[in-house]
Amino acid sequence: MAAADDKKELARATRTYLAREADAGRGDLWTLAAGEKPRPRRPRAPKAEAPAPKSTIATLEAVGLTGVPDLSPAGDTLDQIAHEVRGCTKCGLCETRTQAVPGVGTGKVGVVFVGEAPGAEEDRRGEPFVGRAGDLLTKMIQAMDEKQLIPGVTLSREAVFIANVLKCRPPENRNPLPHEIDACSPYLKRQLALLQPKVIFCLGKFAAELLVGAKGTIGGMRGTVYRYGDSKLLVTYHPAACLRNPNYKRPVWEDLQLMAREYQSA
Ligand code: URA
Ligand code: SF4
Repeated sequence: MAAADDKKELARATRTYLAREADAGRGDLWTLAAGEKPRPRRPRAPKAEAPAPKSTIATLEAVGLTGVPDLSPAGDTLDQIAHEVRGCTKCGLCETRTQAVPGVGTGKVGVVFVGEAPGAEEDRRGEPFVGRAGDLLTKMIQAMDEKQLIPGVTLSREAVFIANVLKCRPPENRNPLPHEIDACSPYLKRQLALLQPKVIFCLGKFAAELLVGAKGTIGGMRGTVYRYGDSKLLVTYHPAACLRNPNYKRPVWEDLQLMAREYQSA
């Protein structure tokens, strides 16, 4: 008798756990194959809101006041910036690039993703995040859309804006050098000044340190809501880090959920 009760209890607890995981978006996270249609979501009875995990708003004073945006010159446009980037020779990376990678998307929903620098595939195609790490970012955006993380807002590569700190590929994908970041970052800052996004989402250390304006680790910076001008700014692990270590996928998904909540209260 007692054994049968135990089994029932275990089955019930398992169902509850699986339902909670699915609710949290962890059921099939980023596992959709390219082009595969997401399953239609089952309508669920409204339930009481779970308390949001704690987040802190960091003031510019608290983070050292260095992440202040450059002003965009009057009449600046994304096309003008892209044109300048494609012809840019401000640092040595112009010698080794196939083509520069200014950015992609309209940014019309007010969300910007910022990565590090183009890789081989990006350098070939002139578009950011189109290699393996890019496929993962695209799946993250699709998963946010499928789970309606921001209710009523359609998310796609076209609706957001995706760019990098460096617009040209460093040879062998080495880390960006400080003088390259100094030379190139005004392009990104002009893009941000034009777009005035609600939320900027930094992928990895180079974007995070540049836009937060302080040195740090992703582990130490994630979970904090920074400000960049009038935009909220959040930080997470780079998709390439998730490819190397799948344990990063869960914290990244949590950071995307935090970003979605902050977007809604922006
Ligand atoms: N592709 C990009 O465009 N940026 C990165 O940071 C990594 C891959
Ligand atoms: Fe110009 Fe940036 Fe390319 Fe250097 S990396 S050449 S600064 S666009």
